[in-house]
Amino acid sequence: MVINGNYNRQPSDPARHIRKIFLEESCRDLALTRQILARAPHLPVEIIPDRALPQIDAGPYPRSLTAGKQHLLLCRNRGSFFKPCPGTREYCCCDYQVLNIGMNCPMDCVYCILQAYLNNPWISFFVNTDDLLAELSQAFARQNDFWRIGTGEFTDSLALDSLTGLSKILVEFMKDKSSAVLELKTKSVSIANLEHLDHGGRTIVAWSLNSPAVMANEELKTASLEERLAAAVQCAAWGYRLAFHFDPIIYHPGWREGYAATIDKLFTTVPADKIAWISLGALRFLPALRPTALTRFPGSKFFHEEFIMGLDGKYRYFRSLRVELYQHLLHLLRQRANPATCIYLCMESEEIWHECGFAPGQAKNLPRALDAAAVAGG
Ligand code: SF4
Repeated sequence: MVINGNYNRQPSDPARHIRKIFLEESCRDLALTRQILARAPHLPVEIIPDRALPQIDAGPYPRSLTAGKQHLLLCRNRGSFFKPCPGTREYCCCDYQVLNIGMNCPMDCVYCILQAYLNNPWISFFVNTDDLLAELSQAFARQNDFWRIGTGEFTDSLALDSLTGLSKILVEFMKDKSSAVLELKTKSVSIANLEHLDHGGRTIVAWSLNSPAVMANEELKTASLEERLAAAVQCAAWGYRLAFHFDPIIYHPGWREGYAATIDKLFTTVPADKIAWISLGALRFLPALRPTALTRFPGSKFFHEEFIMGLDGKYRYFRSLRVELYQHLLHLLRQRANPATCIYLCMESEEIWHECGFAPGQAKNLPRALDAAAVAGG
């Protein structure tokens, strides 16, 4: 078995929250399983029949969601790994492709949409990576378009990477794929596996950013702003390009100063010419999220604002407030960003883009603009 010293359970490593591993019987001899188990000899491992659900005494709902962040299920993905992001026709979409590596996350954000989707007291991680790579190879062989691919839709891209080592497999697979880039999106600083990789410029490392107050109060077990930016500087030094996502932008006391402080720190720390794109997305959530999140985090205040139901079935702030939030951040970002960085709104209408100072047609052209930003430094 391979022993990898990266799984060091440092305070900033979200993988240190894992308390037990469950393992599907048919996955016990897969290469990635063996590597993961070798990296975590201190963790108890229980082998369960395929498709059986781990028996976890998670207590009454919603404690199960909290307990779930400590249990890792190594299992097989029996469906597709690779799908278009389920954007909504009513809003401008960036044509992203989702690579599904697992479900759930050891960090704990109050606004995390996964709380509305998942009720399992475990984190699933797919160890049949040969199937994943075969599916990707087939997709590359039959397509002509350029693809931006991300693993951060149903989990955090790097939160468990010190344990799984998946980033090495994906980054090295992508290094010679001239018609795609991989975006690894995270709120952790688990970047050690990215060092010394031949990435070929085909991987972009991305961090979600927020105001200091939101990061401190609503993003539990995540890395601090300073840690995230230091990790970004390190990745840039290793030759990776970067991306940042101000998402969800949350209206809260002192939001103007808070987001200004984060943007100032971003541009005084990170080389602007390494940033491929920056997205902005105001808070939006499925109705089912609010009661679940408020039960788990009763002290959190931001769900008590007024919201309207959007065309995608998610609550969002009133249009005037969304525009005010975006205009403030865009004003600050446009002063400091490199002209080649693609700055865009996530899941908003063309009218909102226009009100926020984007030129006519920019919203519709977003996928091409992001493709160009990806290619520019590749
Ligand atoms: S880091 Fe992402 S996936 Fe993890 S809890 Fe926060 S929002 Fe959810």
